[in-house]
Amino acid sequence: MYNRVPIVLTRGEGSYVYDIAGHAYLDFLTGIGVASLGHAHPGLAAALAEQARTLLHTSNLYFHPLQGQVGRRLTALSGLARAFFCNSGTEAVEGCLKFARRYWHTRGETARTRIVALERSFHGRTFGSLSVTWTPGYRTPFEPLLDGVAFVSPTDPEALDTAVGSDVAAIILEPIQGEGGIWPLSAEFVDAVTAACERTGTLLIADEIQCGLGRTGAPFHSATLGLRPDLMALGKALGAGVPIGAILMSQEVADAISPGDHGTTCGGNLLACRAALVYLDAMEHGGLARVRVAGARLADGLRALATRYPVITDIRGAGLMRGLEMTEAVATRVVAGALAHNLLVNRTAGRVVRLLPPLTISDGEIDEGLQILDTVLSEAQ
Ligand SMILES: *Cc1c(COP(=O)(O)O)cnc(C)c1O
Repeated sequence: MYNRVPIVLTRGEGSYVYDIAGHAYLDFLTGIGVASLGHAHPGLAAALAEQARTLLHTSNLYFHPLQGQVGRRLTALSGLARAFFCNSGTEAVEGCLKFARRYWHTRGETARTRIVALERSFHGRTFGSLSVTWTPGYRTPFEPLLDGVAFVSPTDPEALDTAVGSDVAAIILEPIQGEGGIWPLSAEFVDAVTAACERTGTLLIADEIQCGLGRTGAPFHSATLGLRPDLMALGKALGAGVPIGAILMSQEVADAISPGDHGTTCGGNLLACRAALVYLDAMEHGGLARVRVAGARLADGLRALATRYPVITDIRGAGLMRGLEMTEAVATRVVAGALAHNLLVNRTAGRVVRLLPPLTISDGEIDEGLQILDTVLSEAQ
């Protein structure tokens, strides 16, 4: 169920989408970080058309050549050993939770089932992923959820230390909390996570669905922070608009899982893997460097706006994942005003205006978006 913005989008090109009446919108949201190469990317379109003429789906009863190619690329980028493909970010989180439980079960520690998650977290809306999602309003109507989940404040390293004992199967975290309001984890908290994992052997699950795969200018933001996850959940940008999710895991975790423990019919089919290969090519061949340059330009522009508009009380994020904090009332006016000026952004955690432009955005388009925000802020403050 959704509260939808009242426009009907029928077409896209690069950083712009067009509505049914032909109006162009500069897309600083990309369907929540999914259309990572912008819209109607010619290379992606050609690859998908060719794949549709060749073979789209086999199920996971048989091999096809593309899963191995995507898996090798992702393991090389992450340093993790193995990949399991699914259809969405949420499914990747579900798989991570199952694989963490399975790891301890295989090792005979069958009571080691608890999960530590963070306040402000978002990991999805299915029962497992919802159980580790913080927002009480999302969880309460569906309780009881998974047993044994503890939420710890990401600003309280000592609380994390206390919460992680030898009965905890895994810690799950977003290196930059996305839906929670674009909050990067602090160095102190990262150190506490690393120490707790070393002390107890607890597995670390990094949810890189929103902040990973180039969004911040690095393949994975956990590595930028110095975290060494045992499992990683991927989604959103990976398919550049085609649904795909992936779980990356260490060899030790993979060794604990047996055929039949988990599965999916469509996960990692040829269409989705072909899209992922096009995306990874673009990301590795110039994309990451481009995000770092574009992200710095965007950050400079946002800081300049914040000096002129004191309604902006904080700017957070990295690369092309940015949040502007203000009051809920002003944030609501800014999002509506941006739409009226043909710029797509959204509001998350009530008071944060979120920007997730395509990784292919040009300097001119960043400047255009900043110019619109300037106009909108002057009207909304
Ligand atoms: C979007 C998101 C999810 C859920 O992904 P879906 O594609 O909606 O299934 C999980 N975790 C994080 C951090 C996300 O941003």
